[in-house]
Amino acid sequence: MTPEELIFLKDLLQRQMDELLEKADQSVSEALSNEHRSSDPLDIATENINTAFKFRIRDRENKLIKKIKQALAKIESGEYGICEICEEEISFERLKARPVAALCIDCKIKIENEEKSAPWRGKQYNKIWETYIHH
Ligand SMILES: [Zn+2]
Repeated sequence: MTPEELIFLKDLLQRQMDELLEKADQSVSEALSNEHRSSDPLDIATENINTAFKFRIRDRENKLIKKIKQALAKIESGEYGICEICEEEISFERLKARPVAALCIDCKIKIENEEKSAPWRGKQYNKIWETYIHH
């Protein structure tokens, strides 16, 4: 990766983080202004679902913010763009599309295939677990 490419990606990460933080601010003030609740049970149910949905999105945004912070820290320490598994350089094209990527495309595909053949070890299991806890 050239220094110019690194600067480009750092910029991209910082912009993504700013956007996420801005969005987080908005949903907090939205939640606070949402005082006029309807007494219709159906409305209340819908509102509750919307709130739960928003929190789910918030959760995902928080995770992304964490990933962006990690990526920025790696830029500082000079470890950015190195695959965490095989330690090969991650291609600039991949980082441009997904600047928080911590794995090269080969390792990513390998892990995804493993998750498919053994779902209890990966994300799919977490999804089932999440559904089980929340519903
Ligand atoms: Zn790799």
